[in-house]
Amino acid sequence: MDFVGRKSKLLAPINRGSSDSDLLDKEPAVLVFLSEIPKVIRKLFFEFQGVKRYRSKMVMERFRPRKRWGQNFLVDHNIARKIVSSAKLSPEDTVLEIGAGKGILTVEIASRAEKVIAIEIDKKLCSFLREELKNYENVEIIEGDFLKLDISRFLGSGSRSGVKVIANLPYYVTSPIIMKLLNMKKWSEATFMLQKEVGERITARPGGKDYGALSILVQYHCGVEKQFNVSRNVFRPRPDVDSVVIKLKLLKRPGIKVKDEKLFFEIVRGAFSQRRKKLSNSISNVLKIDKHFLEELLGRLNISPARRAETLSIEEFATISDSLGRG
Ligand code: SAM
Repeated sequence: MDFVGRKSKLLAPINRGSSDSDLLDKEPAVLVFLSEIPKVIRKLFFEFQGVKRYRSKMVMERFRPRKRWGQNFLVDHNIARKIVSSAKLSPEDTVLEIGAGKGILTVEIASRAEKVIAIEIDKKLCSFLREELKNYENVEIIEGDFLKLDISRFLGSGSRSGVKVIANLPYYVTSPIIMKLLNMKKWSEATFMLQKEVGERITARPGGKDYGALSILVQYHCGVEKQFNVSRNVFRPRPDVDSVVIKLKLLKRPGIKVKDEKLFFEIVRGAFSQRRKKLSNSISNVLKIDKHFLEELLGRLNISPARRAETLSIEEFATISDSLGRG
């Protein structure tokens, strides 16, 4: 990875295979320190730095991406910049990055935000990142499984505007990661690159085949917006599918009021689990209520019992849930 030529003043000259004098030019604090110690120790210091860097590069050369962790790395710096630009970061922002990989997004974020908390499950990638990004004082690498970590421990009070999340999501856990974030709530906006098909489901509106329980779950809690498509050709290894970048804005409170959230989502999931069936059949099956009673109720709500789940808006699901509700 070559970070040379980037804007951040935190940039490390060592990535260029820097010489002794090179390093001294760029790091006055090191210069003062080193001038105090004999030349031979100084030489050892630089050799040690070089060995560490060389070892880290060699580890990456032998690195075999793991399919089971969804390791398709973005290799196009223009796309990395475009993704981070979509997040509209300000210098006071704290950013939570999920799955930092080899750091292509991490360095972009680090040069624009106050702090980056980067979570990565792979131990080898974490060692590589710690070595490569050691001069970025605003980056904290956390080794662990995002789904198991208590993230609030790392976020602190966050910035005034709330933590922003950025991720090129590992495809095998896209939905669990989004669910965890929706429950966690300590963030304001999320910019995700994910499988195109999943992005289309999240942003879908009623009436199409992409619209389903995932669309309603995410849109109940967030404003959603598609940003741009990304070709599969900008990843290594190359995945079988294209990607899309989407943006979620967490709503302070859900845009739609429902009396009983649990019942609301039970109805939504039930209706879509049998999406080819008429509403009167799917909902009566899942809630184990009398079909004729339900048909009558839907009639009173001006919702035809013959309609299918994918034609209903979130508001209509809320109306059904509130009419059946215990609240
Ligand atoms: N951000 C990098 C990029 O854009 O090239 C890597 C993206 S790659 C699609 C997904 C990354 O998430 C991998 O580095 C993988 O090791 C990491 N990952 C997978 N599952 C994870 C989990 N449960 N928690 C944290 N990181 C995970």
